[in-house]
Amino acid sequence: MVRVRFAPSPTGFLHLGGLRTALYNFLFAQKHGGRFILRLEDTDQSRVVPGAADGIEDMLEWAGIPPDESPRQGGPVGPYRQSQRLDLYQEATEELLGKGAAYRCFCTPQRLELLKKAALRERQTPRYDNRCRHLSPQQVAEKVAQGADSVVRFRLEDGSEPFCDLVYGWTKHEVASVEGDPVILKSDGFPTYHLANVVDDHHMRISHVLRGWEWLVSTSKHLLLYRAFAWDPPRFAHLPLLLNADGSKLSKRQGHVFVEQFAQDGYLPAALLDAITNCGSGFAENRMGRTLEELVAEFDVGKIEKHSALLDLEQLSEFNRIHLARQIGDERSRPALVAEVQESVERVYGEQLTDRGVLEKAYVEQVLLLRKGHISRLQDLVSPTHAFLWIRPTVPHEELQAISPEADDIGRLVLELLDQSVATLTVEQLNGDLRQLPARVRVTQYSVMMKLLRMALSGLQQGPGVAEMMVSLGRGEAQARIRRALSS
Ligand code: GLU
Repeated sequence: MVRVRFAPSPTGFLHLGGLRTALYNFLFAQKHGGRFILRLEDTDQSRVVPGAADGIEDMLEWAGIPPDESPRQGGPVGPYRQSQRLDLYQEATEELLGKGAAYRCFCTPQRLELLKKAALRERQTPRYDNRCRHLSPQQVAEKVAQGADSVVRFRLEDGSEPFCDLVYGWTKHEVASVEGDPVILKSDGFPTYHLANVVDDHHMRISHVLRGWEWLVSTSKHLLLYRAFAWDPPRFAHLPLLLNADGSKLSKRQGHVFVEQFAQDGYLPAALLDAITNCGSGFAENRMGRTLEELVAEFDVGKIEKHSALLDLEQLSEFNRIHLARQIGDERSRPALVAEVQESVERVYGEQLTDRGVLEKAYVEQVLLLRKGHISRLQDLVSPTHAFLWIRPTVPHEELQAISPEADDIGRLVLELLDQSVATLTVEQLNGDLRQLPARVRVTQYSVMMKLLRMALSGLQQGPGVAEMMVSLGRGEAQARIRRALSS
């Protein structure tokens, strides 16, 4: 059974890189009929931010990739927060101590600091010199009896075995020759990342670990831990970094890395998921507009590239436009969009609404269908460019006169045209009729006429097409606005 996990530390908001790691795990689980688990790695309590854990889970739900097992959902192998699993790490540490694979270290912070300084002076990478490895059981017992503070370190053995990463291929880091023995249990009884991660992946029966590239070098160390426990390790797939289009770190872009921000700014989850997977990884081809179902169907872990993925956030609006058009066109998703627009109109225009008919479902739905493909975010519909859809503009007569001295004549002709046109107005039909009008009566140029009508209907010099405006507003309202503009 495929079981994968996303294991963030709850130290802040979920950022795009984290969302992408979670998404690949979700896709992999879906693809193989497996389970997707959220585990919170909160053993470094000093870095835990209140509310961050809920924020992360909220955002996974918002994105449409909720975990099957999690701190909130629960599940068969919980608890899903490391800070609630301390007994397990304690037990595991005892096991390693019993086997001689780990040992107590009594080195003081001062000694470790001196070691570090000495190494830096010699221009070497600081590493622990493994001194306490050589303490005899009596020495250890004495120090414990004296109440000396200690940590537990894992004895790094030579002979790391190579492993085949599903993305990076055969890999091996001879950790023992470059690192000192790592701390696995701190003096306060909390485990460090390496121990907790391995113990949990084992007890949670994780089959595949899909995580950020930065952990690739730690994997050999983890495999040594698995070997010491005599546990079968999971398979590993390390995911290349997600960077800005110019190769800089995502975190350098303030305010543009947190999923919550994108949600607040009105981006659709589908657009965000599409954008972060569209930059070179995990799919046979890159194309815009993939839905989550399509991402699942087309995902192939073997197609994840080793090079970093470059994300061009400038394109996010375009991704959103495509997904929004798709959701407007889909009868299953449209009602939620209608409701959202109704709420925004009420919120933004509330008091100013003279005709509350604009809040009706049929009206909003028609607006959405007509604007489909033209707007990139739903909230564009309450921007000043679209205000005419909800409230009547005030258009001084002089403005119309300034566009054309024949404003009144044109207005009358268009009123007539609207009277005579078919019962159900369509953009196509109206476009045809309007196009013929100047030629028939030779009043003015077509473009001037359209400018004039746009102004009368919306108070705008630029904006949606005139015929579309007329259809959105409906015959009666369009005529009323033209009449009002002429007589004002
Ligand atoms: N807590 C680690 C992180 O936030 C998890 C790494 C892993 O998935 O093993 O990146």
